[in-house]
Amino acid sequence: ITNSLEAVLGKFRGKGRLTEGNIKDGLHEVRLALLEADVNYKVVKNFIKQVTERSVGEEVIKSVAPGQQVVKIVHDELIKLMGESDTSIPFKEGGQTVVMLVGLQGSGKTTTAGKLARLMLSKGKKPLLAAADIQRPAAVEQLKTLGRQLDIQVYFEKDLPPTKICSEAIKYAKENGHDVVILDTAGRLHIDNELMLELREIKDTLTPDQIYFVCDAMTGQDAVNSAREFDEQLGFDGVILSKLDGDTRGGAALSIRAVTGKPIKFVGIGEKLDRLEEFHPDRMASRILGMGDVVSLVERAQQAIDFEEAQNLSRKIQSDTLSLEDFLMQLQQIKKMGPIKEIMGMIPGLGNKMDGLNFDEKQLEKVEAIIKSMTIQERLIPDMINGSRRQRVAKGSGTTVQDVNQLLKQFKSMKKLMKHFKGNEKGLKKKGMFP
Ligand code: GDP
Ligand code: MG
Repeated sequence: ITNSLEAVLGKFRGKGRLTEGNIKDGLHEVRLALLEADVNYKVVKNFIKQVTERSVGEEVIKSVAPGQQVVKIVHDELIKLMGESDTSIPFKEGGQTVVMLVGLQGSGKTTTAGKLARLMLSKGKKPLLAAADIQRPAAVEQLKTLGRQLDIQVYFEKDLPPTKICSEAIKYAKENGHDVVILDTAGRLHIDNELMLELREIKDTLTPDQIYFVCDAMTGQDAVNSAREFDEQLGFDGVILSKLDGDTRGGAALSIRAVTGKPIKFVGIGEKLDRLEEFHPDRMASRILGMGDVVSLVERAQQAIDFEEAQNLSRKIQSDTLSLEDFLMQLQQIKKMGPIKEIMGMIPGLGNKMDGLNFDEKQLEKVEAIIKSMTIQERLIPDMINGSRRQRVAKGSGTTVQDVNQLLKQFKSMKKLMKHFKGNEKGLKKKGMFP
């Protein structure tokens, strides 16, 4: 056992109820994680306050450290803050559903227009793309290229103002049986009046069914600020967060939701056209926290580990009355928690240290099968398992007599080891092996 593993296991013991003190410990790290993930500091402040109020007095799950349990509470609250996930695009029954994409230059509007068109195509729609960004000469060509890749038509008319291009596109869609029109609009490096006037004119003239604000997740707080501006000056129905494949933690997602109250619909996770995903608040919360996967660890512990059982077991080990029945129960609890490697991988700082340690899941299953083929008496008094019994157990479990022998031998030496530990109880307690 490495030092770090020992430290982690030691931390994994519960201490009654969550108090302001141990909540503070947990929240200190959470606070840093949120700020580091680019969550707006005001949002963080409010949030921490809320979580503290919710956490005080909660019973500590005994197999995890209080700080880790706080992380789980934080995780749940983050999900709440980001709101129910609603990634549906409301399509009109008859006529053309018009979706308008807005955002700063380079935020990913044109790419997202292609991605959305592809998604809609896969849902049996017949989308039309409208190239309404005449600000940059290359923008129209970029959309046309995407359209060719997807075999989706792109509407553009030279020398027309953006609003007119959009209205003509919708007309064209009506005449040619397109049921969705996606408007790819212009952006600017910064928000200015000209841009807002242009977008408002399109909005007022065509009253799109949905307006989605596309923003670059990598830009952090700037994304939050522009989201606020766009929402105040234009208004939108949802957010599409692009470039989440970068190394951003995605704290912008949280702040944008908190600041505008608008749901995040999709996330872009790459330049390619199939790199669009529905937004999952739970995944985003884990990502924002970035604390290994403490959250699912706590969840699994909540589900699987019966602490009283574990305590009983350790008492039995110490008094040398451990039976194969106990051993089986222990194995089953471990199995309920999931693959051992996975569990170890969830412990922050430990995941990449696992390569050296070899846990064989198959072996565990074999052991379980063998014990299950024993009678209860045999499990309680392994010494009674003689040659013919061994043969029966091997046959019943689909293993060999050697396998059974090996298990019994290992179990015996394990008990011996435990006995040895018993004399050493104090040292073990210090190392956190026993509660
Ligand atoms: P627009 O100016 O808002 O239309 O932005 P573009 O669609 O032209 O995108 C700007 C740049 O960001 C392009 O190089 C895109 O390939 C890239 N991009 C867009 N979305 C994503 C994404 O989800 N992930 C990555 N890695 N790049 C993206
Ligand atoms: Mg563009």
